[in-house]
Amino acid sequence: MENISAAPETQIKETSFLSLNPSTLEVIGEVANTSREEIDDKIEKAQKAQKRWAARPDAERKEIILKVAEALQQNSKHLAAWITREQGKPLSGPGANFEMQACVGWTQVPASLDVPEEIVFEDETRKDILYRNPIGVVAAIAPWNWPLMIAIWQIIPSLRMGNAVVIKPSEYTTFCTQEMIKVINTVLPEDILQVITGRGEVGSYLTSHPEIGKIMFTGSIATGKKVIEASVKNMARLTLECGGNDAGIILPGFDVSKHIDQLFWAAFLNMGQTCACLKRLYVHENDYEKVVKALTDYSSHIPMGDGADEASILGPIQNKMQYDKILDLILDSEKNGADVLFRGQKPDLEGYFIPVTLIGNVDNGHRIVDEEQFGPVLPIIQYKTLEEAITKANNSENGLGASVWSDDLNEAQKVAAQLQAGTVWINQHGAIHPLVPFGGAKQSGYGVEFGIEGLKAVSLPKVISIKK
Ligand code: NAD
Repeated sequence: MENISAAPETQIKETSFLSLNPSTLEVIGEVANTSREEIDDKIEKAQKAQKRWAARPDAERKEIILKVAEALQQNSKHLAAWITREQGKPLSGPGANFEMQACVGWTQVPASLDVPEEIVFEDETRKDILYRNPIGVVAAIAPWNWPLMIAIWQIIPSLRMGNAVVIKPSEYTTFCTQEMIKVINTVLPEDILQVITGRGEVGSYLTSHPEIGKIMFTGSIATGKKVIEASVKNMARLTLECGGNDAGIILPGFDVSKHIDQLFWAAFLNMGQTCACLKRLYVHENDYEKVVKALTDYSSHIPMGDGADEASILGPIQNKMQYDKILDLILDSEKNGADVLFRGQKPDLEGYFIPVTLIGNVDNGHRIVDEEQFGPVLPIIQYKTLEEAITKANNSENGLGASVWSDDLNEAQKVAAQLQAGTVWINQHGAIHPLVPFGGAKQSGYGVEFGIEGLKAVSLPKVISIKK
């Protein structure tokens, strides 16, 4: 591993720090920690703007959000270039341009949905009407893996339901997020969407602020727990999208060659830095050689390099912290007897590159299986019986997603019903959709995003009960 462990440190100063291009280590700029006074001021402005926003007719708010989608579409090339420069994912393949198209789609869909008032009970004595009112100011805390798409998931439904938003992007992806907010704010009324920048302590101050009514958090389980603690102070409503360690089970006899494209991207989308990537693959012992060969053959043809080069389909790890964590997990598995079944080509560049790596001779109990690697490394675990595979897949504190791969869809559904996860995909993985609720089981979080359920989650249910 010597050749890929020598990337330089990210420099961190006291009140500000540098953001780097992870492919080249070029310094993009200095990120300031927003001061507490400034955060207070932005929240106060957001509160005032929210009242004006909520007072507008619903149709007007819809129309404005559709104009946001147009602005994102018009600026998608510019913003994709920013994603690649700061986050690292390539422009090509399922990379930065793909992320921008998702931003447009996830803006259009909430604008097209309605959550009308509902008569939940009526008889000769009474009538009860359920309204979905705005909550107020929503704090959005975003991660660095899909910085613009996840910010959109947090911002747009909140605005759609009449809230204002104060967002803190990840400290690693500040500039690209600020560029997108600039574009969105060319359309939105003043102060309804604001951005603050900095590290965890800035997020902590925001989430515990007394005027925050809802927190949309996406990030790690450890930080999610801190957000729960912060919300004790303001009793803010929470949607927590935390980490995943998604298992996939290939049922015996599956024709892997037909689905190799889906299987590869299930594990390696965004260099594996995706919450709902396939992170542990369980394969029947009779099919093991065939699956490893299919994945090896496919992986060896996917070029890795600087994301700005349109020939690159895979890019770097986003930051040094994550790079070190992944290397540590690979080394730990090797020390504990695992085999590296395949390791792809690392480009001759300075950045944080880790080639696609397939690991065999591992099992539950190894760190590479039990912990979320969040990188381009896939442990492949052999099983003898399906019961054993299901038990091992469920043996995790995480429960975001899971997948079952089979030519027999009935059999696959029976297995899917036994897996403990917010979503179980069949013959695909991580295939999210703006109309389909998405959220985690167990410590992967609570609450759902997307679709009508996602809109309800950023509203305050209020009943008016009338005596007849
Ligand atoms: P992270 O938890 O380190 O950071 C997430 C955000 O929280 C950042 O903006 C960070 O500055 C902020 N933060 C840190 N400390 C805070 C505090 N005390 N209070 C408030 N905010 C604070 O996560 P990350 O490394 O940016 O993202 C990777 C993790 O996110 C992985 O575990 C991944 O699985 C998870 N993730 C989950 C989903 C999902 O939808 N379930 C999506 C993407 C990523």
